[in-house]
Amino acid sequence: MQKIGAHVSAAGGVSNAPLNAQKEACEVFQFFLNPPQTYKFTPISEEQIAAFKKNCKELGYTETYVHASYLINLCSPKNSTRYGSMSLLRKGLEEASKLGIQGMMFHTGSATGCPDKPTAIKTAIESINKILDGYTGSTKLLIENAAGSGNTVGVSFAEVGTLLKGIKNKKQVGVCLDTQHSFASGYDWRTPIGTNAALKEFDKEIGLKNLTVIQANDSKVDCGANKDRHEHIHLGKMGTTAFKNLLHHPKLANTAFVLETEPEGRAQDMAWLKKFRNKK
Ligand SMILES: [Zn+2]
Repeated sequence: MQKIGAHVSAAGGVSNAPLNAQKEACEVFQFFLNPPQTYKFTPISEEQIAAFKKNCKELGYTETYVHASYLINLCSPKNSTRYGSMSLLRKGLEEASKLGIQGMMFHTGSATGCPDKPTAIKTAIESINKILDGYTGSTKLLIENAAGSGNTVGVSFAEVGTLLKGIKNKKQVGVCLDTQHSFASGYDWRTPIGTNAALKEFDKEIGLKNLTVIQANDSKVDCGANKDRHEHIHLGKMGTTAFKNLLHHPKLANTAFVLETEPEGRAQDMAWLKKFRNKK
């Protein structure tokens, strides 16, 4: 049975994340290690690391994730951006390993300024290989599929698969599937046929064994609209059937579903997902 949870606040220190997760009835959770709209990196104190681990243990959390900064761009032709992104991801991985976190998801970046998309993908692969060079931590770097707005990289499952295939250190990478991003990039989860076809393509291009976690978000925009706009479960264009199709799919029976919807109304999202999961 899948664990269901949400992206929770870690304001005031990472040790608050498991406490907030419990308040929201999460079975799994993710949070920001650092402020998401910056390149800022603040090391976590030994006290906070110990308190985080203690809280997770006491509350029974064995699966936790962190989301990297939104400013990451591993394809940028600007060295300061690209190397800044690489450094931030590596530091994040090291820090997350100390916390015992399973994975850190990130957005690959944008091909804007690159000669073409294949060049951008090649640059991203080189960047990821550099990030993982000599990395021995336990937190996996998770490539998150993009919605396809602008020139984002890692949109189709084929693109994510190409990124993954180029990575040398395969044991330390995985994939995070955002349902809204995939819907916006044309994968239609609203019918069992669409769901089966999408997962078949995912398996062919990426490999289902590389799917680490699902970000469960409904969509404000239509299928194929290529915009990153999360909506509460039950209120979006995907609808409840999409989440039933996903939660009941045998291939996803052990993959955690993490909500990234607005805090207000998220309790209801959590209740929906748990209801769909529990009632086949
Ligand atoms: Zn994301």
